[in-house]
Amino acid sequence: MSKKRAISTEQIHHPYRPPEGWNAIPVPVAKASTVLFKNAADLHHYKPRDGKSYRYGLHGTPTSYTLAARLATLEGANHCLLTPSGLAAITLVAMALLRPGDEVLVPDNAYGQNRYLSESFLPEFGITHRFYDPLDVAGFEALLSEKTKLVWLEAAGSITLEFPDLIGLLRACKARGIVSALDNTWGAGVAFNPFEIAPATHPGLGADISMQALTKYPSGGADVLMGAVYTRDPALHDKLNHAHEHLGYGVGANDVELLLRALPSLELRYRAQDASTRALAAWMQGRPEVARVLHPALPGSPGHAHWQQCSAEGAACLFSAVFRAEYDMQRVDAFVDALQLFGIGYSWAGPMSLAVPYDMSRSRSLPLPYEQGVIVRFAIGLEAEADLRADLEQALGALGRSA
Ligand SMILES: *Cc1c(COP(=O)(O)O)cnc(C)c1O
Repeated sequence: MSKKRAISTEQIHHPYRPPEGWNAIPVPVAKASTVLFKNAADLHHYKPRDGKSYRYGLHGTPTSYTLAARLATLEGANHCLLTPSGLAAITLVAMALLRPGDEVLVPDNAYGQNRYLSESFLPEFGITHRFYDPLDVAGFEALLSEKTKLVWLEAAGSITLEFPDLIGLLRACKARGIVSALDNTWGAGVAFNPFEIAPATHPGLGADISMQALTKYPSGGADVLMGAVYTRDPALHDKLNHAHEHLGYGVGANDVELLLRALPSLELRYRAQDASTRALAAWMQGRPEVARVLHPALPGSPGHAHWQQCSAEGAACLFSAVFRAEYDMQRVDAFVDALQLFGIGYSWAGPMSLAVPYDMSRSRSLPLPYEQGVIVRFAIGLEAEADLRADLEQALGALGRSA
């Protein structure tokens, strides 16, 4: 077998045949609601959901099928479904797999909207949930029951960035035949393969489903909202595809175009942002105002050993600083307001660095694996690291003066 090519090379040289006589590299933007059939017999014999043929713009176009194929390659999957947002990808998995009486397990550090879905919406359909500690496999196993039909995983988790014991959690799911779904927005197909998380030590071990907010790295421009759900298993893909069609989850052709344009630079952006994030996280850890920096690649950060088992080389553009107890929310807010290069706002993996202050005691059910304190979650963009460091330094100065 030939050596696997690098992500950038794969994304640039992915098979695509331009229309006859049009030998250009970019994929044309196909837009349509109506797609004409050759004749009535063709219309009658259309095979729904085969991922190749066309019936109606909502269900797929040459442009969206090309994007789905390239993303599947990135993620190491056989199938990819596109959704109008990352959150829609999460709800698609729930709607496809959960029925009244079922229970879903969600890590306590899951993406906030995934938590709220389980807490406030799924109960209306008779679906229950449990939050589990992603670092405690024995505690997780104790929650599994006959009712458990879906386990969400997130690596690393949101805001506090603990990297879960993915190997232990996935082995527990596999042993019981419970479907696992990994929110792989952080890894983005670069840090590790969600369907084979540790090939050297645990060949074949991976999630059954992966999902990504394409809004983050694949877009990279802070200008697109989209999500994707990936599988290797055809039967599971069929279930997801069935729900996808009935929920009416289409995506806009212009958004698909932006993603196709951004994918060739995804790996370069990921690695560049990774490098400056690690440098800034390490620098922040040395600051007297900060009790601890949370980043899976930093030794001592919760889940660091699990991150090493899975990916060792890749980490996303996020780190969180836990401020010392004397810095309350008001003072930390003043620090955030004093930042000049960091925007205050949600999302990440775009060109501009962002900062968001959090009081974690309000958004978790289980105890946190580190000392309490106000947290600032930083998303590092594409600005020069030295400029970002200077900005952090001047804003920390403002924090000192506010005492
Ligand atoms: C942003 C995000 C989502 C949701 O994506 P949207 O496109 O904003 O709906 C899901 N999971 C994670 C981990 C995210 O960071």
